[in-house]
Amino acid sequence: EGETGPGAIPRIKLVLLGDSGVGKSCLVLRYVRGQFDPSSKVTVGAAFMSHSVHLQDGTTVKFEIWDTAGQERYASLAPLYYRGASAACVVYDITNAESFQKAKHWVSELQKNASGAIVIILVGNKSDLTEQREVTTESGQEYAERNSMLFMETSAKTAANVAAIFEAVALKLAGSGA
Ligand code: GDP
Ligand code: MG
Repeated sequence: EGETGPGAIPRIKLVLLGDSGVGKSCLVLRYVRGQFDPSSKVTVGAAFMSHSVHLQDGTTVKFEIWDTAGQERYASLAPLYYRGASAACVVYDITNAESFQKAKHWVSELQKNASGAIVIILVGNKSDLTEQREVTTESGQEYAERNSMLFMETSAKTAANVAAIFEAVALKLAGSGA
């Protein structure tokens, strides 16, 4: 614990933010354990998981993932998690336009209060539910581009693009020399 010397595995502290029910906990479970549990429990406060991964470029990093609760009553706790984070993953549900608006609020809050160096990735989850889609890929993409964020549409259910979130974040951080 706490090693930072040469040879130590770089750590990336990543916080997940977004409305309740968008699939934050399912994304983490899919990524860390390779599972999808449709009856997963609501997150209370925040949950922590760490996961070491070998990236496509051959390097290894350790993600320290903070999965927060989306409920309003925990919103004041969010800064405890995003302060000091190198990356934030702001999640919405592509079948829920309101959750996309909520995601935009999170982005504004991060832009105001988080470190300027934080890498933000906007994630539209539940891409498997194509028939219930309310948010177009283009609107997510455009919003992300305008705000210099990474963007991905994912499905925790099918695993589509889930590992890609973390790959993209690690790549961006490596590129920025952080
Ligand atoms: P959180 O509150 O953001 O942590 O959301 P959860 O991870 O608890 O997921 C909320 C609900 O959405 C659960 O019923 C999940 O089964 C469902 N869910 C999460 N991700 C997906 C997905 O990619 N596709 C589908 N179809 N359902 C999902
Ligand atoms: Mg949760």
